[in-house]
Amino acid sequence: MKSSEIRSAFLNFFKERGHEIVPSSSLVPHDDPTLLFTNAGMNQFKDTFLGRENRAYTRATTSQKCVRAGGKHNDLENVGYTARHHTFFEMLGNFSFGDYFKQDAIQYAWEFLTGTLNLPADKLCVTVYETDDEAYNIWLKEVGVPADNIIRIGDNKGAPYASDNFWQMGDTGPCGPCTEVFYDHGDHIRGGRPGTPEEDGDRFIEIWNIVFMQYNRQADGTMEPLPKPSVDTGMGLERISTILQGGHSNYDIDIFQGLLNDASKLLGGVDTTVGSLRVIADHIRSSAFLISDGVMPSNESRGYTLRRIIRRACRHGHKLGATETFFYKLVGSLVREMGDAYPELKSDQAQIERILLQEEEQFTKTLDKGMRLLEDKLSALDGSVIPGDVVFTLYDTYGFPVDLTEDIARERELTVDTEGFNQALEAQRERARAASKFGMDYNEQLTIDGVTEFTGYQSLQGGSAVK
Ligand code: ATP
Ligand code: MG
Ligand code: MG
Ligand code: MG
Repeated sequence: MKSSEIRSAFLNFFKERGHEIVPSSSLVPHDDPTLLFTNAGMNQFKDTFLGRENRAYTRATTSQKCVRAGGKHNDLENVGYTARHHTFFEMLGNFSFGDYFKQDAIQYAWEFLTGTLNLPADKLCVTVYETDDEAYNIWLKEVGVPADNIIRIGDNKGAPYASDNFWQMGDTGPCGPCTEVFYDHGDHIRGGRPGTPEEDGDRFIEIWNIVFMQYNRQADGTMEPLPKPSVDTGMGLERISTILQGGHSNYDIDIFQGLLNDASKLLGGVDTTVGSLRVIADHIRSSAFLISDGVMPSNESRGYTLRRIIRRACRHGHKLGATETFFYKLVGSLVREMGDAYPELKSDQAQIERILLQEEEQFTKTLDKGMRLLEDKLSALDGSVIPGDVVFTLYDTYGFPVDLTEDIARERELTVDTEGFNQALEAQRERARAASKFGMDYNEQLTIDGVTEFTGYQSLQGGSAVK
């Protein structure tokens, strides 16, 4: 089954069960300062869950564009390292606004996976929130999942694994206990069952999260019950497509194969399984969709995240031998792969290409020189930490966002001295303040140089930009 067919099968399955098919919302959250980018299907329904907005329906289904590159859910550092994470992905979801609850939500998920999609039940295991006996019993007694394949997991405070069966969209907002479905890709792959210290590999891959929305978390941490218990689910389209297309990595699916093959041609025939090529294929999706939703590369929080993604892609291209601009050329491939499902990509193609090319041209001017400086410093490096002043020079003179230098460091099993970088940045600000006292606008000069992108870690996390 093609990814596009799986998307339609999902929406139709829920439509037949009384759900309204609602279009994906923008990646830029509407009027929600708590969120950097749309990170889940439920975002556009936040006020409906909270009882602040009434809709004409109590059941909905969507295929939602998501970006997880900052804020509470941030997968930027996972891309290229795991088989299952992207910065941009599509989340298939079904929602109940005070309509059905645990029983139907679980039954629907099982029916879709093992009935419509024909997944073998013995490859699936599920997790439930540790105290949620109701969900546990539905899986055991009504669905018939063997007790061995139902794992209780808490909210993961201090546990030596990543799974967490209490879902929340951000530090505040709707949240609740959840139950998740995992697929076992086989014992030839490293990794253990969810809830074990070995789960971090990619053998058991989480495919579907079913959240029982029950609370609204307040800024002080207290949890207020929602007016009506509701359901919010999310299944990664790329992860389910991977299984149905017989692969293990998300990059094996049709959409990514198309992008990887084209990227490989642009970069002189690089092997399509190379990590850097995967990063590029991932980043063209997030960059293009973000631009299409109105984000422009800039020094502010959203725009700066986009800029960092684009620059990371350029650096990976450089690593694979690119000597000229290439990234913007992948927009056409993306339109071919995803333009039917997202017509805005087609209509915005020229604009996206123009913005990417401009950003790429600007960075290409300093990238090669910056890399040479870094190589020089690394060849003389004593120890495994890249000093803060080097990170600062790369940032300030060559336009390397700190996370880009960290990405390079990680490839070489090095780290960066963030503390030293912050000191150098602060010292520069001090100099700027002192200079401005004498009537000289040092900041303006820096802006003209086009090198003052870093807006502080706070803004990277979605907070207000400190320019
Ligand atoms: P993981 O534990 O694998 O990081 P998650 O628990 O963070 O996933 P949820 O927040 O529960 O993910 O999101 C619901 C579903 O969306 C997941 O079950 C998965 O199928 C999909 N998903 C989440 N993050 C990504 C990502 N970065 N790339 C692709 N799919 C994703
Ligand atoms: Mg995650
Ligand atoms: Mg998870
Ligand atoms: Mg999850």
